[in-house]
Amino acid sequence: ATPTAVMVATGVGANNGVLIKGGDSLERAQKVKYVIFDKTGTLTQGKSTVTAARVFTGMDLGEFLTLVASAEASSEHPLGKAILQYARHFLFFDESSLASGTKNDAAVFKSGWLYDVSEFSALPGRGVVCFIDGKRILVGNRKLLEENGIDISTEVENFVVELEESAKTGILVAYDDVLTGVLGIADPLKREASVVIEGLRKMGVIPVMVTGDNWRTARAVAKEVGIEDVRAEVMPAGKADVVRSFQKDGSIVAMVGDGINDSPALAAADVGMAIGAGTDVAIEAANYVLMRDNLEDVITAIDLSKKTLFRIR
Ligand code: ADP
Ligand code: MG
Repeated sequence: ATPTAVMVATGVGANNGVLIKGGDSLERAQKVKYVIFDKTGTLTQGKSTVTAARVFTGMDLGEFLTLVASAEASSEHPLGKAILQYARHFLFFDESSLASGTKNDAAVFKSGWLYDVSEFSALPGRGVVCFIDGKRILVGNRKLLEENGIDISTEVENFVVELEESAKTGILVAYDDVLTGVLGIADPLKREASVVIEGLRKMGVIPVMVTGDNWRTARAVAKEVGIEDVRAEVMPAGKADVVRSFQKDGSIVAMVGDGINDSPALAAADVGMAIGAGTDVAIEAANYVLMRDNLEDVITAIDLSKKTLFRIR
């Protein structure tokens, strides 16, 4: 493309909240064969909410939620934030204040109710671990619990499977090395997601989903949105490998993601698209920034590229 054509496209893009960094990526975008979508925060709204909490020992639910919230208090992960918010609501609000939407911010943000934790660590793709009162607490997926030798009973496994089959993420909690309870977390699809996937297919583009979440939840979400090719339980570093595997036969690959987790994959892709406010790291690694946090702009970006180059030929 001529510098002028690139400038025009960049301007049109900017008017739609699509920031294009450089003419090379603009040219590559018209030849995209695969668009790989991150799941959480990209296809989904990234607004995780706890929809189920069950204790499998004699522990009181309030006590259970306080323990889990304390363990997640230093977590930066959206799942951790969702758990904290749910615990606060459960402990400090009654049904009527929830229904009327009145918020007592002082109570919401007071942190005195949390237990002191020590030796906190966040394990990417797994969960968190720390100690409360000298007892270890693990909050995360099966992998985290299995790696730490925690038994998962059939009753617990069945409950987790039930959550996952309805597109929810099951978070398991072991306190003092005993499986104590499970939380179910939902993150709804963006409203436009299915329409955009359908639109890409019509353009001859193959949509793919990649996620660190478990296979069953991933398949349920993919089915809902209309994606057939799914890669799940991918560790943060593995997303870039997924991108490279699609590039092997010379195909042009676009990656759409929002998180720090996604930046190596955004950088590895021929066309990296950071969506939403995103994290600075993701924006840095991307060729396109889709400011509106709307998946329709993936199509806008590809269209723009096709039109630009068509016009100057
Ligand atoms: P995604 O690719 O969907 O953004 P991540 O790689 O961040 O996923 O996390 C993968 C999985 O690891 C989550 O689905 C969850 O099971 C577990 N996990 C990660 N962080 C946490 C946390 N702070 N608390 C509980 N579970 C977590
Ligand atoms: Mg994400």
